[in-house]
Formats: sequence, structure tokens, C-alpha cells
Amino acid sequence: MTAADLVLAHSVTIPDFPKPGILFRDLTPVFSHADAFRAVIDEFAEHFAGQFDAVAGVEARGFLLSSALAYATNTPLIAVRKAGKLPGEVIREDYQLEYGTASLELRPGQLPEGSRVLILDDVLATGGSCHASGRLIERAGYVVAGFGLVLELADMTGRERLAGYPLHAIMSE
Ligand code: AMP
Repeated sequence: MTAADLVLAHSVTIPDFPKPGILFRDLTPVFSHADAFRAVIDEFAEHFAGQFDAVAGVEARGFLLSSALAYATNTPLIAVRKAGKLPGEVIREDYQLEYGTASLELRPGQLPEGSRVLILDDVLATGGSCHASGRLIERAGYVVAGFGLVLELADMTGRERLAGYPLHAIMSE
């Protein structure tokens, strides 16, 4: 089975969560299935091989993906966090979500300038979270190597929003 087959087999769609009208794609069963999770991480490693120096995970499910990929590829890991979690100097981006508004923060100065950073998250919907994460990576003096997603919701604006950057989704629907 391909990684996409495994994601399809193990993802769950939950209507009206966290708000009425939202069709929530729950990928936690993909994470809790060892073969599916390994296939996802291996596909990111193969697809982006040689293209990144570090991995960034978007809070919170992006952390699960990015830590596994960073370990598997022996690369540094940085965390793009929700607002108010990081002490000390941070840079911040505010953006619109499919359901509400949000802010993400990054501590600058963790990697050499010009590092190519691969940004990972579970679901691409409007692209707001990935776009804000990319802005933080660039404002910190790094280069966005690309975006890796487990599931792309193709009827949303995500891919357009990230036009010009390498983007790989294991599965699109
Ligand atoms: P966006 O910034 O709109 O691309 O949304 C992506 C972020 O919100 C990701 O971190 C997802 O985990 C979460 N998200 C947005 N829409 C959904 C959805 N329909 N199902 C599951 N997660 C979603």
C-alpha cells in the first residue's frame, strides 16, 4: 500500500467539529497506525531528499510529523508555536483560519542564516497556517524549502496561497 492508501484507510471525517459546518479531517488514527505513520514520514524524506537543512513543525500536529522527520533525516527541528507559548524574543504573524483567527510565533536565531527549512503540518485548508509559518521562517532569515502536508483539501485556497513554493501533499481530496 502507498502512503496515500494508508492515509485514506486510516483518516476519519467528523462533521460539525469544532464548529457547525466544518468537516473535520481527523488524522490521529494515521499517527496511531505504525505502518501508516512510517509511510508518511518516509514519503516526506524521499520527496524532499537533499532539499532541506532543517524541519519546522506547526503546532500541534505538525510537531508529531516534524519530530519524526527530523530524527529520521538527522536534521535540526524548530517549532512554530501558537501565540504566548514561547518565552524571550519571538516574531509573530497573525492570520485568518477556516474557523476563526490565530497567531503563530517563532524564536529567531536557532539556525544558521539561509538554512533551508521544510515546514510540516497535517492538513492544508485555507493555507493560512502554512503561509504564516513561511513568513516567520523568512523573517527569521531562513529559506522556505517547501511545505509537506498529509492531506490537502483541494477545494480550499491553500495551494494558491502558497504558490511559488514547493508543496507536497501525501493525499489530496
Ligand atoms: P489552514 O491554515 O486553513 O490551512 O488550516 C490548517 C490548520 O488547521 C492545520 O493545522 C489543520 O490541522 C487545521 N485544520 C483546518 N481545517 C481543518 C479541517 N477541515 N480538518 C482538520 N484540520 C483542519
